[in-house]
This record gives sequence, structure tokens and C-alpha cells, in this order.
Amino acid sequence: MVIQAEKLSKHYGTTRALQGIDLQISESGIVGILGPNGAGKTTMIEIFEGLRMPSSGRVSVLGLDPARQSSTLKQRLGIQLQSTSIPPDLTSTEILKLFAAFYQKSLQPGEILKRIELQEKAGVRFSNLSGGQQQRIAIGLALVNDPELILLDEPTTGLDPVARRGVHDIISRLRDQGSTVLLTTHYIEEAEKLCDRIIIVKSGKIVADGTPFDLVSQAEGSSTIWIAVDGELDPAPLQQAGVTPQGTEGGHLHFITLDPAAAVIALGHVLQAQNLRLIDLRMKRPTLEDVYLSLIGQPEDEQVHDDARKPSMQNRAE
Ligand code: ATP
Repeated sequence: MVIQAEKLSKHYGTTRALQGIDLQISESGIVGILGPNGAGKTTMIEIFEGLRMPSSGRVSVLGLDPARQSSTLKQRLGIQLQSTSIPPDLTSTEILKLFAAFYQKSLQPGEILKRIELQEKAGVRFSNLSGGQQQRIAIGLALVNDPELILLDEPTTGLDPVARRGVHDIISRLRDQGSTVLLTTHYIEEAEKLCDRIIIVKSGKIVADGTPFDLVSQAEGSSTIWIAVDGELDPAPLQQAGVTPQGTEGGHLHFITLDPAAAVIALGHVLQAQNLRLIDLRMKRPTLEDVYLSLIGQPEDEQVHDDARKPSMQNRAE
């Protein structure tokens, strides 16, 4: 088991940052903790890193207790904090050498620079690197000890889309090499594109957990269908199959349905019965963003002290 947490809670005074997290991560690949500001992502990841103490509950990371066996655990973890102070006058190679000294086992700076695609900046001072390059160094520092588990706290926040894609490529390659990466993000598209598993956190609780595909499949809400046909379609038989006409849009007939699979089958039958030819078919299913917004909904601050919660997607999936 890579990470196991049971009823994990963390309170800061009256703020309940984590409220009884149960979590098991046993697989390699990229696991994303997705949630809005203040959801508890950093608190959770820093408890796994041994940097914060839980108020209650149990946690084990690589079979170790992060609070009690922190120095042993840190040798096996790769950690990128949300902000790291790196000496601005040191070169990329010097920074990697400096951090390598903290570990019993470490990779050569050249090997790390290769992994973060920054070989040509080996001799450049940190202060002269771009924001995206500095972030790659921060990720490189998490790789110095060739870790078994890599924990990245918001690795792409503040980067432009090109720099963000560069970081995504580095993280994807870590997955391809068999690593387990746990990262936090509040970018939905990043979680969807990059992660094999997404854990959605709200107000210190897990409200959904699954592959991006699973989460979208569990989405409630209507799918939209647009069709163009070579004649006059009578929509009545479609309505009987739960497909509701919404008028026309851009020369297409517009429908909504809760059951798109049944709608497509019904559409085939109706077209055949009415001797019509399908010219175009477009469909939009609920997206991960729809799922996320339906779960996250209200502003975070209204929820932090609120125990009365509606049933979560996780509960529904169980
Ligand atoms: P962000 O995306 O903004 O980084 P997050 O999901 O990582 O947010 P946390 O930083 O874990 O969330 O914060 C969770 C809650 O705990 C917030 O309400 C925050 O204000 C509070 N909190 C976090 N750290 C502390 C602290 N050291 N002392 C007091 N409250 C804290």
C-alpha cells in the first residue's frame, strides 16, 4: 500500500481543514487531489509528507507513520512544496547538488536535468530562469533521491499554458517510468488530462473518487443531442423514449435526454420508420467540469463549518 488514511482529521482552532478522510492508494500512476482553495489539499499532502501532524485518525505512507518515522520516510519521498525558497544565485546544477546532500542516495544532477528537460540550463543561475523553468527545478528537487512516491503540491499554479504543458509532460513521463505521483491541483482540465485517478475534496472531505472516465459516467444531468436530417422529422416517438425536443439550433434539431444511449437507439428506429437520412449528429455529455461544479457548488467558506451535507457522489458510487 502506498498511502492509507483512516478517519484522518486536522483542525486549526475552529477550522476543520480535514474531516475524517478515508483513502487508500495502492497503484502506480498519477493520482490528483482536486478541490477549490481552502478545501484541505495542502493539509492532506503535508500530513502524508510528515510536515503536519493530524489531529486524529491514522495514516501510513509506504508502510511508515509520517509523524513518527518522518526522517526514514523522507529518504523515500520526493516532495515539491507549494513554495520552496531556492538560493537565487546558485546554478541549476549547484541547487541539485545542494539538495542531494540531504539524502543517503541521490541521482546525478545531469540525470535530473535530463528528466526535467533542462540540460541546457545546467550552468544558469536560478534567478535567471523563467517561471516555468524554476518550477521544473522545484520538481527536479523532488526527484533528487530517486523516490518511490512523488508528492507535488500545485505543480503548475501560476504557469502559462505552454509552461504548464511542459510540466505535464515531465509528470506523465514519471508515470510511464512506473512512479506513483500524488499531486494537488485546482485545475479541472489538468486533473482530467493528467491523472489516472481523481480525488475531489471539498471542505476537508472526499466527495468523489475515481478515474476521470468513471467520474464523468456518474455525472447527473442531461446530455444534449443535435441532429440534421434530410426531411421533416416527427419527434413524438423520440419523446416517448425520453428525448425532449428543444427547437432548432444552427439548422439542427436540438434535443436533451438523461439517457443518451437509449436516445441514440430510439433515433435509429425513428429515422428508419420515417424513412429519413441522418446528415449530422452531435452530442455533448456532461463534462468533468459539470460534475465538479455540481459537487463543489457553493463557495468553500460557507461549507467549512457545515456538518449537514447532502449525499456525496462517493456515497452514491459505493
Ligand atoms: P489552496 O488551494 O488555497 O492551497 P488547500 O485546498 O490546499 O487550499 P489548505 O491550505 O489545506 O487548503 O487549507 C484548508 C483550510 O485550513 C483553510 O480554511 C485554511 O485557511 C486552513 N489552514 C491551513 N493551514 C492553516 C494553518 N497553518 N493555520 C490555520 N489555518 C490553516
